[in-house]
Amino acid sequence: MAYDLIVIGSGPGGYVCAIKAAQLGMKVAVVEKRSTYGGTCLNVGCIPSKALLHASEMFHHAAHGLDALGVEVASPKLNLQKMLAHKDATVKANVDGVSFLFKKNKIDGFQGMGKVLGQGKVSVTNDKGEEQVLEAKNIVIATGSDVAGIPDVEVAFDEKVIISSTGALELEKVPASMIVVGGGVIGLELGSVWARLGAKVTVVEFLDTILGGMDGEVAKQLQRMLTKQGIDIKLGAKVTGVAKPGSGASVTFEPVKGGESTTLEADVVLVATGRKPCTENMGLAKAGVVLDSRGRIEIDNHFQTSIAGVYAIGDVVRGPMLAHKAEDEGVAVAEIIAGQAGHVNYDAIPGVVYTQPEVASVGKTEEELKAAGVAYKVGKFPFTANGRARAMLQTDGFVKILADKETDRVLGGHIIGFGAGEMIHEIAVLMEFGGSSEDLGRTCHAHPTMSEAVKEAALSTFFKPIHM
Ligand SMILES: Cc1cc2nc3c(=O)[nH]c(=O)nc-3n(C[C@H](O)[C@H](O)[C@H](O)COP(=O)(O)OP(=O)(O)OC[C@H]3O[C@@H](n4cnc5c(N)ncnc54)[C@H](O)[C@@H]3O)c2cc1C
Repeated sequence: MAYDLIVIGSGPGGYVCAIKAAQLGMKVAVVEKRSTYGGTCLNVGCIPSKALLHASEMFHHAAHGLDALGVEVASPKLNLQKMLAHKDATVKANVDGVSFLFKKNKIDGFQGMGKVLGQGKVSVTNDKGEEQVLEAKNIVIATGSDVAGIPDVEVAFDEKVIISSTGALELEKVPASMIVVGGGVIGLELGSVWARLGAKVTVVEFLDTILGGMDGEVAKQLQRMLTKQGIDIKLGAKVTGVAKPGSGASVTFEPVKGGESTTLEADVVLVATGRKPCTENMGLAKAGVVLDSRGRIEIDNHFQTSIAGVYAIGDVVRGPMLAHKAEDEGVAVAEIIAGQAGHVNYDAIPGVVYTQPEVASVGKTEEELKAAGVAYKVGKFPFTANGRARAMLQTDGFVKILADKETDRVLGGHIIGFGAGEMIHEIAVLMEFGGSSEDLGRTCHAHPTMSEAVKEAALSTFFKPIHM
């Protein structure tokens, strides 16, 4: 039977695309090499990491955050097996949810490795080595990304002592010490989990800032806060070796600017240096699918690859490696295939770092605006001046809004503080509609809420805040 659409990969890009296409009346098949749907995000990414981030934060809060509120608890005890079981149950509920939605939308699932044979043809080889060929009018490649190592350094992942983000989600005991190679989002989130549970965590980062690419002021503030939490952060450090000398592991690094090298030892080394697109063993070169210089599938403005009727979305193509970006592309490409005007606004994709406090941003950073020579104005408001934040003892952080100097149109929003990942969306919606900081500053916000700091930052962008 010929399908209207075959989607290869069932991560947030692929599964959302499949559901949307089915909703638009297409007959859809999904090919997935894992035994469960949901991709990196649901199985070994966003969802399990957030389950552990929440649980470890509760543990840490019970030990350190309640006393000041007048809640005295005996020293909390960690039951790591139960915490991991909570994480596993959360993953199962989510991947089962995708199976349910596939059934509901009459989407056929094929377990196995998908290969593009050319226009309209996909082969699927299951775990037993059995191959079948499926046909479709359209193909969407949504094969996502995989753990990348350290450039020019051999890393022998065993997922027990030298681990990737996947191993960091299932350590059987809390290591006394952990070195995290990479001060990006994944390294800081998973480093925070194990630091909260008792590990002495050291982060080794190549750049001279954590969270490279995020607004510099926000990244600096987070660095201060993580340092206060006991995480040792070494910047401008180039890792030259990761070894397993005895029962633990070691990391050797040298200053990027040149100088003596240092070797640190720890029970566990987490390598979180980024992810690479999954394009291997899929017959792409033979089929004529062109990759860009960074190994990602090249696409046009309508997600179409170099072959007509073959599209690609999500982590395997350009743009931020984020689940919601993949999802939005999944919806857009399904709409385009259905003859509608699918579109993603890449200027308003929020990004959240789920540390404590959270960091959230949307749109341009101050550094990007400077580099582009855009005349902008900045409005800032600290949570120390927010009543709700004081009531909750969550006064660390601030909201920063960047607006065009002439038109007042909001170009970027950056929040560091408790609940930043929820608050960022009002700035994202505002930007989606081309709103100004005055629009935001004149929007009534409920009192007392942390979100009032967003309104106040907007007020200070175009005039003056009230509570400062
Ligand atoms: C630890 C961690 C935490 C993260 N946290 C967040 C977060 O909080 N928020 C966020 O937005 N993003 C987060 N991410 C990133 C997010 O997981 C990815 O951006 C997202 O999963 C990309 O979706 P995708 O559909 O493009 O690919 P994926 O989710 O990677 O899915 C691709 C699927 O394709 C399958 N596949 C690959 N090749 C083939 C083939 N040839 N045949 C058949 N199947 C194939 C894979 O098995 C996989 O299931 C996190 C990532 C990690 C690792």
